[in-house]
Amino acid sequence: MPEGHALNKILKDIIVKYKSLRGFRSPYIPGWDCHGLPIEHQLMKEKGWDKRKVGRVPFRQEATRYAEHWIEAQKREFKRLGVLGEWDRPYKTLSPDYEAGIARAFYDLFEKGYVVQDKKPVYWCPTCETALAEAEVEYADKTSTSVFVKFPVVEWPANVALAFHPEGRYRLYESGQTHERFLVGDPGWKLLEEMFGPGKSNAPAVEGLSLEGLVAKNPLNNNDSQGVLAEFVSAEEGTGVVHIAPGHGEDDHVVGKSYGLPVLSPVDDRGRFTPEVLPNDLAGVSVWDANPVIVERLAKAQTLLKEVKITHSYPHCWRCKNPILFRAALQWFLKVGDAFRTALIQSTNHVDWIPEYGQERILGMLRTRPDWCLSRQRYWGTPIPMFLCEQCREPLRDRAVFDRVVAEFEKHGGDVWYEKDAAYFGATTPCAKCGHAGYRKEEDIVDVWFDSGVSWAAVLGRRPETRGTKRTDVMYLEGSDQHRGWFQTSLLPAVALTGEPPFGRVLTHGFVLDGQGRAMSKSLGNVIAPQELIQKYGADIVRLWVAVTDYREDVRLSQDILDRVIDTYRKIRNTLRFLLGNLADFDPGKHARPLNALDPLDAAALGAFNETLEKASRHYDEAAFHLVTATLADSFCINALSEYYLDVRKDVLYCDAPDAPRRRSAQTAFWIIARGLAKVLAPLLSFTAEETWQTLREENRLAPEDNPESVFLNPFPSPVPLTGAPVLAEFLRARRAVNEAIEKARQTGVVKGANDALLPLKVPAGGPLASLDAAALASVLGVAAVQPATAPVDTPEPGAVTVAPGAKCGRCWLWRELTPAGLCARCADAERAAQPA
Ligand SMILES: [Zn+2]
Ligand SMILES: [Zn+2]
Ligand SMILES: [Zn+2]
Repeated sequence: MPEGHALNKILKDIIVKYKSLRGFRSPYIPGWDCHGLPIEHQLMKEKGWDKRKVGRVPFRQEATRYAEHWIEAQKREFKRLGVLGEWDRPYKTLSPDYEAGIARAFYDLFEKGYVVQDKKPVYWCPTCETALAEAEVEYADKTSTSVFVKFPVVEWPANVALAFHPEGRYRLYESGQTHERFLVGDPGWKLLEEMFGPGKSNAPAVEGLSLEGLVAKNPLNNNDSQGVLAEFVSAEEGTGVVHIAPGHGEDDHVVGKSYGLPVLSPVDDRGRFTPEVLPNDLAGVSVWDANPVIVERLAKAQTLLKEVKITHSYPHCWRCKNPILFRAALQWFLKVGDAFRTALIQSTNHVDWIPEYGQERILGMLRTRPDWCLSRQRYWGTPIPMFLCEQCREPLRDRAVFDRVVAEFEKHGGDVWYEKDAAYFGATTPCAKCGHAGYRKEEDIVDVWFDSGVSWAAVLGRRPETRGTKRTDVMYLEGSDQHRGWFQTSLLPAVALTGEPPFGRVLTHGFVLDGQGRAMSKSLGNVIAPQELIQKYGADIVRLWVAVTDYREDVRLSQDILDRVIDTYRKIRNTLRFLLGNLADFDPGKHARPLNALDPLDAAALGAFNETLEKASRHYDEAAFHLVTATLADSFCINALSEYYLDVRKDVLYCDAPDAPRRRSAQTAFWIIARGLAKVLAPLLSFTAEETWQTLREENRLAPEDNPESVFLNPFPSPVPLTGAPVLAEFLRARRAVNEAIEKARQTGVVKGANDALLPLKVPAGGPLASLDAAALASVLGVAAVQPATAPVDTPEPGAVTVAPGAKCGRCWLWRELTPAGLCARCADAERAAQPA
């Protein structure tokens, strides 16, 4: 499992658990994208199969087994992270009901006119032999040959036109040396002078606009090449004239379409020229191998002016990493027309994007996104459920037939598409276009991004757990690369079919980097596998690492970072252990003190807990988990409890008589805090929280209203109903000042430490400390004794610290007036209470 998966799954789990504790029905149905090239490639390789030789159904069955195997392995890992979900009933895009959902969405889009068949250039991987979508293309540097070819010539055999910029300036250049004449755009003049010396022009310059309709000859095949206008022709570089191949480029296709030029694409699935290519001796040669041949021919024909190597960013296949082609073939597209694009753009305003820049990011992509090529010429996917007229390829439009297809998919999955013929599904009505009554089934499969893109239709609203869920209640949570991927591929079908986005909130997280901000890779040797962390430290350490990081940016993971996480974890764990350990003789039914009878310090601790709850839930609601952790761990468990409250309460817990009201008061607060903390921490430290809960259960220390089965079946704690609880921060402040004074007195040898120190104190009037008598004040400050100070100072003066009267009590080690048995009065009472009556 990569670190990024752990980050993603844990973030989702924290939200699901928090919402559940908050009383929302928050089912998490884990899902798996099962189809696609990675498995297909892997399986073909392992089995030594060839796409052309293996049958579709046997292949699909093997791929299903293969995918199921990986699903089970991943499932175990996600469970081990403590992720709660319907693991026995996940959704899988390979399951019959899901494939039926894909088919249904596809046909609905077809009926509404969004999905059409078209022949236009698409990204094509000649290695994988399939069309690719925008999201499956990676850009990498590639060196290509760029050639400058003599007028009236062009470079590639699929060329049908020459494009001029409509406002470009074109002049006739005549070489002073060779008297050859060239029609070039302004940028080309310099180029020609470099080759043929200073030139002159005997004719006035013309605008590109007037060159529309000019006819030139393609030097490779002598075909006519027509002059057309295109805005994308550069006025700064090159010659000002660009060759156009409408079958091999998006821009070229648009220009070609407006001039009615033929879409020539004489290239086969493997990227080799077909026999239609002219000159046709290139047939069978791959386009990459043909390049130097063509250049050589142009040179021989003396039409090659110049050849330069350029390194540019060129699209490559995401799967096999080879350079790809633009190739026109009949494909299914989800059309993104102007009205639809506007609807998509507007729909983003109805989504809560976290962080906010997510909206700008997806808008940038939506504004320019091309039509979505939905068909793939592969095996491992959901069949495109369309029937095509045997004679004219017109798709059959017939709801009843289609309903039958969906019903069959639901029963048998997509295999049935390949096992039965068109007539079996009822495709027998005459073609609407040509009247022929015979159909063949589409053989292509649906792009896997469409599979996951319709999960809102195939899962939400179909599964009983999610029935009645409003779209606005749905959150999508993925890495920030999914603006380009899943968020977009989900938005398109949803807006087309329902007019609304499929989600109400989209939360993105960054990527996991090492301590120095580098991506993790095997070659750098900086990979930290979550499985190993779980084995070494337990899953809660991985969860806490996720919880303490601000995931909105890229997230760091290194041993140093882990060490800090482990340290925080230990402190939280020790706090919980201390709370539980001091409840050993506490029976809540018998010993819990009423809230209005608590000792002021215990009331203050519960007040601090209330404040923590309020802050933590605010940050949980904002999905700012690093702030939840800072509140719970740093501010509460460490600063308030561990370093102060629990520390000064030790004396009361260990040395007061078991039933002393002050001791029972402290235990009551401990008991409330332990149960509350288990619940608040549960979404983050799920294992530790459950362990705490089960300890409370085994020791009969749950309240009657608590659900003993699991901490997750309890509501998020509500504030402890206190009235006028003192503020813990004031106790803390006083204790810090007292500690400083004692430390200085200790250094000068006046006292040994807090146990023998007497402090003269002037307590601020009206504050929480003012209501305490001297003994109580000494207890909450953790010192031997205090006495009212005369000097008008709020803080103790180091010089005023003296040794407390009396001697060290043999039981509590505080300096007090002692009984003949060597005990202070409190300890003597406690001993008496412990004697059997
Ligand atoms: Zn490929
Ligand atoms: Zn027909
Ligand atoms: Zn004592």
